[in-house]
Amino acid sequence: MIKNFVCDKCGDLEYVLIDGYGFGDRILEDVSFEIRIKNDNFKVILAPGQDDYCIQLNMKYWLKEAHDYVSHHDFGECPKCRGDVDLGEPYDPEITPLPTGTPIKSYTLDEIIKNAKEKEKDRKE
Ligand SMILES: [Zn+2]
Repeated sequence: MIKNFVCDKCGDLEYVLIDGYGFGDRILEDVSFEIRIKNDNFKVILAPGQDDYCIQLNMKYWLKEAHDYVSHHDFGECPKCRGDVDLGEPYDPEITPLPTGTPIKSYTLDEIIKNAKEKEKDRKE
């Protein structure tokens, strides 16, 4: 897991952007999400200025989808030059659970617990 995002052209970045089209198709076309790093994990939030459109969507669901998408993708977009920014190693919820206070916490924790239980089962068999 990387500690910060670095653009080849612009240097250190506070966050990178992804377009919602990658996981939301036309519903999220041109909707931008900010990916930040917090406590060694990706934190995905809706980029500012899009509330008017997104208020009609189930953003709790889409933020979860965005987080999932980011976890399995290598590049985000630099907010300054729009170039590709390396996202580093894929996020692994079994090794690094989400920090508390993020909107997708409950979902991810459920997943972790489920995975842990399945592993437990495997071990017993
Ligand atoms: Zn850049």
